[in-house]
Amino acid sequence: MNIILIGPPGAGKGTQAARLVEERNMVQLSTGDMLRAAKSSGTEMGKMVAGVMERGELVTDEIVIGLIEEQLTTADADGGFIFDGFPRTLAQADALAVSLDKVGQKLDTVVQMTVDDEALVKRITGRFTCGNCGEGYHDEFKAPAKADTCDKCGETGTFKRRADDNEDALKTRLMAYYKETSPLIGYYYAKGMLQQVDGLGSIGGVADDIAAALKKAG
Ligand code: AMP
Repeated sequence: MNIILIGPPGAGKGTQAARLVEERNMVQLSTGDMLRAAKSSGTEMGKMVAGVMERGELVTDEIVIGLIEEQLTTADADGGFIFDGFPRTLAQADALAVSLDKVGQKLDTVVQMTVDDEALVKRITGRFTCGNCGEGYHDEFKAPAKADTCDKCGETGTFKRRADDNEDALKTRLMAYYKETSPLIGYYYAKGMLQQVDGLGSIGGVADDIAAALKKAG
């Protein structure tokens, strides 16, 4: 099954994608993660997108479409792909359909995760991850048992916050979402592919709703 998780920053797409990877052997294709990896390994492309990302603006369609195409042709995805943070524009959505077709695949469903804006700000400004294993935490909702130690891998002093998880960048990211990405909701609805889940529930509760949506689509 190939699915898109769509929703504003902080809706929980990455968290739910990670669960689907563990539970269903799916492959998560997060363009945000790919761009951050390019940035931290210092590639030319990484240097080019660093400022854009830090401000919360969108990088060009050409760059992210290239990243996705590369993964579609090389990644081994028996369990299917989860597109997380991609597509973010109508041009990206059209390109995804073409790229999937080229590799003999198709999109099965699009799950929209809805969360109100106030909750998003709270979620994003408090979140951090373990730099060693990637486990996600939150100052208020999911603090680690020991302040500087990861509950999952036990590493100390590895917690990091995203450079764009601050109020200014978040405003830009939300604006980009409403201007560029939210039209995709109508686009996929018109294609009969859209399903909605309430992203405000507990992580497990939202995961159950997503599982129900996938069952319906399968
Ligand atoms: P994310 O981790 O999905 O929140 O993405 C972080 C940042 O990477 C975004 O604010 C954009 O600057 C950039 N980015 C990620 N995915 C895309 C995309 N599909 N199109 C354009 N820019 C993207």
